[in-house]
Amino acid sequence: MVPAVSWRLLGLSAVLVSLGLELMYRLLQRRRRPKREVLFFPTPLICTEPLLSPGLLCSCPLPHSMDGPLSRLLLRLLQARRSLELCVFTFSSPPLARAVLLLHDRGVRVRVITDSDYMAASGSQIGALRKAGVAVRHSQSSGFMHHKFAVVDRSVVITGSMNWTMQAIQTNRENLLITDDGVCVQAYMEEFERLWEEYDPAGYSFFPEEDENGS
Ligand SMILES: [Zn+2]
Repeated sequence: MVPAVSWRLLGLSAVLVSLGLELMYRLLQRRRRPKREVLFFPTPLICTEPLLSPGLLCSCPLPHSMDGPLSRLLLRLLQARRSLELCVFTFSSPPLARAVLLLHDRGVRVRVITDSDYMAASGSQIGALRKAGVAVRHSQSSGFMHHKFAVVDRSVVITGSMNWTMQAIQTNRENLLITDDGVCVQAYMEEFERLWEEYDPAGYSFFPEEDENGS
């Protein structure tokens, strides 16, 4: 005859196994569910300190809501653990630059591609990124480097109409699509790597070599 304690242990084991299976099933379901999000701008000015300075209790008069599109964008960027590829025409938004610098400081490999004509414009954050040691390459051919996309951890693409400027965030009608669709991620990564090689400083042709006559 099986003692009562053994029956209880048996019952408990069965419950634990079924709970474990349920948990595994839910985790697998969550992994399979694609990340998709669409953000629209403009959005009113908000305080981004809670995201950019975690632990800091900010008492400024701006709204501190985390629901808006700028917060959502910052949250997606700050989820980066290994890499951030950023390919953007104009970059002058201070909170987005702080997010990029935060990732760089955390040891995330950040690479930035931008447009040569606009990177020196007033308010551009490209100089600050370079000064902090972020790898930046820029276009050098005619025609703008007009992309506006980012790839987080080689697994999530953020793309759309929006330049990374306060004008775009607070004033313009803009859209951003965030997706972890594998086909999209691969295509954007390939475009990034192609441009990264094309804009290698070793191949700059701003200063054509002198010909044999020294002219
Ligand atoms: Zn604040």
